[in-house]
Amino acid sequence: MISKVMQAAINEQINKEMFSSYLYLSMAAYFEAENLPGFGNWLRIQAEEENEHAMKFYNHLLERGGKVELKAIAAPKTSWGSAMEAVSEVLTHEQHVTKSIHDLYEVALKEKDYAAQVMLHWFIGEQVEEEANASAILDNMKRIEAHDTAILMLDHRLGKRKED
Ligand code: MG
Repeated sequence: MISKVMQAAINEQINKEMFSSYLYLSMAAYFEAENLPGFGNWLRIQAEEENEHAMKFYNHLLERGGKVELKAIAAPKTSWGSAMEAVSEVLTHEQHVTKSIHDLYEVALKEKDYAAQVMLHWFIGEQVEEEANASAILDNMKRIEAHDTAILMLDHRLGKRKED
């Protein structure tokens, strides 16, 4: 049986993952409206992954006899000043999620919840990847800033990203 403290913290994290999914779906719509479908493809896939993250926490609670309590998902922004601004927000958002995963791990340590610690190891590794990917795309964009042709080439590359 999972502790009430751990259960509440995981329910909060489910909400954060769902919000991430919502935010990326909103960004995908922004990029597609801007005729950058490759960025849209990348963010649609990111949105699906965030939904899968929420489900990992959801399943963990259920497997351990906990109660899933879904909360209202805040409305994400619907527009950004530029492609660079949006991608920069992906990186800062992922850094924020990393902190919340680390905070959750602290709760699992305090609660001596070994099962949650094992589950969270996957998320800690996943966040390293999420930040590295967003950071690499942002670095490419900084190099090619103001060169629209290069932005279109990057859009083409992101359009090839498939679900893994
Ligand atoms: Mg996530």
